[in-house]
Amino acid sequence: MVIQTDALIIGAGPCGLFQVFELGLLGIKADIVDSLPAAGGQCTWLYPDKPIYDIPAVPVCTGAGLVANLMTQIEPFKPSFHLGEEVVALEPFEGGFRVKTAAAKEFHAKTVFIAGGVGSFQPRKLHLDGADALEERFIHYRVQDPALFKGKRLAILGGGDSALDWALALGADAAAITLIHRRDDYRAAPASVAQLKSRAASGAVEIIESANATALRCDGGRLTGLGKCRRHAENRCSTACCAYRRHHCQNACKKSQRHQQCHSFLGYTFHAIVSFFSSQFSGIHTRVAGAINAIMMALVCIYTLSRTNEKLRVFAHIFDNETRSHGND
Ligand SMILES: Cc1cc2nc3c(=O)[nH]c(=O)nc-3n(C[C@H](O)[C@H](O)[C@H](O)COP(=O)(O)OP(=O)(O)OC[C@H]3O[C@@H](n4cnc5c(N)ncnc54)[C@H](O)[C@@H]3O)c2cc1C
Repeated sequence: MVIQTDALIIGAGPCGLFQVFELGLLGIKADIVDSLPAAGGQCTWLYPDKPIYDIPAVPVCTGAGLVANLMTQIEPFKPSFHLGEEVVALEPFEGGFRVKTAAAKEFHAKTVFIAGGVGSFQPRKLHLDGADALEERFIHYRVQDPALFKGKRLAILGGGDSALDWALALGADAAAITLIHRRDDYRAAPASVAQLKSRAASGAVEIIESANATALRCDGGRLTGLGKCRRHAENRCSTACCAYRRHHCQNACKKSQRHQQCHSFLGYTFHAIVSFFSSQFSGIHTRVAGAINAIMMALVCIYTLSRTNEKLRVFAHIFDNETRSHGND
């Protein structure tokens, strides 16, 4: 099937829909193709009920509301929609373009507008044992119906706009809400970050930073908890390998602890040996030299032990903190 068109828009998200309007003002009718079964892109597919606050002259609307308004706005221009069809090929053709979809539809278009946004949506899934079996029931990669989460204990994984928007929007009705983010800086709008942190300060939300989900706890096919593992704060341990797993972190800490203690022992022992040899070969009477040597050795030993104990305490403290912060709860 070949369709001739003046303008083909790939992507029926907000940008693609508004492109229909702009072309319509120029008297150009458009065909618009999208791999999703409905128009609206991310707004329809990922957050139809989330409030949106940053549309000029619209103080607040939902994702679905925004798309509904765009559809009303473009209605007079009568675009042709081709939904549920992914564009798989685009090539120059007879002064225009030939575009093919996965459903074997072919367009010959004078102009092509690519409004593909973030592309055809594919969630980045949790690669944890048992995750697939819980999908759509306990693990969700999009929120189509927020009512589903009312009164539930929720964990939101991520630190971008979606994660924070949902943590804020679902927080009011959830039984408990925890945001787990693998870093301690956020890619979300600063205003959302500030709002979430202030909610966390009041105890309404729990935030766990520098942590990853590492396991799913299930009971009778229900998700009952998440195992998590904190990453090291960079200034705690310089060992790059201590990333995710608890035993790696502990081993890395133990190694670096031993390594530094070892260095400090070598350092002080070396000083003590030098002072011993230099007094043995001096021209002073042996007993006097022996006494001086013994006193110096004692002083050096006391100094060494006190410094070593001090270091041991410091490392023990760091290690103790690390061990506690890696707890899987
Ligand atoms: C949870 C969440 C909350 C958000 N909240 C806000 C907010 O409050 N305010 C705000 O301003 N922005 C928000 N955003 C961002 C906003 O949704 C996007 O900036 C906006 O959707 C971009 O519009 P778009 O038309 O460029 O792309 P998209 O909405 O991504 O639409 C692109 C469309 O192109 C289609 N497509 C891609 N490739 C192909 C192909 N090969 N063949 C066929 N079709 C294809 C896709 O299926 C999709 O429908 C949010 C995003 C998310 C995920």
